[in-house]
This record gives sequence, structure tokens and C-alpha cells, in this order.
Amino acid sequence: MEKAKTKKTKPERSNLVAFLMLIIVIGLFFLLIDEYQKQPLQAQVYIQAGHEGRIFGKTGSVSKYGREINWTKIVADEATRILRNAGVSVIRAPADQKRVSIVKLALSIHFDGNKKACQTGASIGFNHASDKNAARAWRRLYRQTFPFKWMPDNFSKNLKYYYNYRYTQVSDAELVLELGEITCPEQARWMKPRLKELGALVAYFAAKRVGASGVKNPIFY
Ligand SMILES: [Zn+2]
Repeated sequence: MEKAKTKKTKPERSNLVAFLMLIIVIGLFFLLIDEYQKQPLQAQVYIQAGHEGRIFGKTGSVSKYGREINWTKIVADEATRILRNAGVSVIRAPADQKRVSIVKLALSIHFDGNKKACQTGASIGFNHASDKNAARAWRRLYRQTFPFKWMPDNFSKNLKYYYNYRYTQVSDAELVLELGEITCPEQARWMKPRLKELGALVAYFAAKRVGASGVKNPIFY
């Protein structure tokens, strides 16, 4: 009787062992995929279109002139196109690419929005003293073109503590570029027909920062 008992339980136990092994193998497989996705990406420039890819939560400002989420994409795509044509490698990121990018320069494109129109204008966000040089250079450049007001650097928490800083490791700078206020009629009317030129200006700036030649300073009409 004793012997028969042990014989009966054996196949069940080996089934259990096989099942557990399978679970472990599947688990390891997913762990490996996860590890791979955590591997940092590398390029010269990182360009993020603010809010891109989101369907709820922080989907960006909206006014009768347009949606920020659409505008950031136009600017980021044009900047990326021009930079790649000039031989500059670009990581083109949406709002939530939760993967570290190692680059020289990281730029996140945004447009500001306010309940009370025309409270703000263009501004820059950054979180490290080493970003200041590039921030100053961008202001100097964009000031020649953007005919409206500027806010102080990091004037809002969203600029100073931008959630995406943790995903970019830079040797030059990581900046949030607020290109103007989409809810301010005079600013929005100026920006709307110039989104591609704004992309070209971002490309010109980025190329200069990474030492690439062949990207022209665009002419604004
Ligand atoms: Zn935004």
C-alpha cells in the first residue's frame, strides 16, 4: 500500500514542477524584455513634442487658434527633419517615453496657456546651473524673432521641475522651450503660420550647440 501511494503522487508532483518551471521561464523572458527597454538610447540631440501621445491627463493647452499638442508635433517634426538631413542624430520623443536618453542637448517643445489670456509669453525651463549657457543662447536667438513678452526662466513649477528631466542625460543642456502663449490671440496669430519656421529655428539652435554645420538660420516673414 505504501508503495502504491508514492507511485500515485509522483506524476502529479512532476507536473507541478514542470508548471513552475514554465512560470519561471516566462517570468525571465518578460524580465529580459523589461531590461532591454531600460537600456538608454543615445544620439546627439533629443527633441520631445510636449504632450504628444496623450489622450487624457495633461494633454496641453487649447485655444480657438489651435491645440498645443498639434503645434508641438509640427515644430518637433520639422526640427528633427532638418537636423537629420544635416547628419545630426536625433531621438524624437513623445510625452511619455519612459526610457533614458543620453545626448548632448535635450529640448522639450511646449506652448503656454492661461485662463486669463496674455499672462505669459515665451519662457525657458531647466533644472541645473550647467543648462544656463544654452538657455541664454536660446533666449538671445528667439528674442530676435519672437516679438512678444518673455517670462523669467523657470517661472513656473512645470518648468523648474519638469517631469521629463529624469529621462535625459546631457553633456550640454536640457531645456523646456515654451515658444509662446497659445491662448493669447496676438501671440497665437503670429505663431500659427510660423510653426515650421519655429521648427527650423530650433534645428538651427540645436545644430549650433552640437557643432554641426549646414543648418541655416531661418527667415521669418
Ligand atoms: Zn505644454
